[in-house]
Amino acid sequence: MSHINEEYIEEYIRNILPDNKPYLRELEIYAENNHVPIVEKEVAQLLKLLLKIHQPKNILEIGTAIGYSTLIMAEVTEYAKITTIERLPQMIELAKDNINNTKYKNRINILEGEAEEILPTLEGKYDFIFLDAAKGQYLEFFNLCMDILEPGGLIVSDNVLFKGMVASDKLVVRRKKTIVKRLREYLKYINEIDGYISAIIPIGDGIALSYREE
Ligand code: SAH
Ligand code: MG
Repeated sequence: MSHINEEYIEEYIRNILPDNKPYLRELEIYAENNHVPIVEKEVAQLLKLLLKIHQPKNILEIGTAIGYSTLIMAEVTEYAKITTIERLPQMIELAKDNINNTKYKNRINILEGEAEEILPTLEGKYDFIFLDAAKGQYLEFFNLCMDILEPGGLIVSDNVLFKGMVASDKLVVRRKKTIVKRLREYLKYINEIDGYISAIIPIGDGIALSYREE
């Protein structure tokens, strides 16, 4: 139960979507068995659609895990360069294996380390950023991303409703209190900040889209 949508709605949408390619299905199964929190099918689908519309040249992902969302993004973009940041060595190894097995390996660059340290060192500009790392740090990540996001660029943040806890105190478990508080601050911030227009979308674990106005 995600506490975001009724289960029957989620199931209906997931069943109507076509299956991903077999190698991505394998990653989905690996993630499920090993509790790696990859994007839900309906979120992956929205990512694909946004990328098709937006046609970014330079994508930045914060939070690679096993490279699943990275490869989803590679699948629907023909030429985009994808830079992806991950701090856990065991995830980096898995992501490398998974990515090097595909024809996309030359377009994908994995940066190893803490995102908060790597982001200020990035020299390029990005027109699409997928934010999917430590949820308590989203505000910090967003601020660091503002400098490297092109006008007209989009930041997509995942898990912003955090199992519904962000929207209701009744659902908050004690050890998640700080994350929830920070995610609430984050959503308020991206909805009020000048020069951006944001939308919160209750699919998957909740995503937010933030468009930097030109
Ligand atoms: N985007 C992936 C899932 C990412 S899970 C997908 O949908 O397929 C979140 C990942 O972010 C984890 O692997 C975690 O190790 C990484 N992470 C969390 N905080 C981070 C940080 N501060 N810097 C770099 N990586 C981080
Ligand atoms: Mg996520």
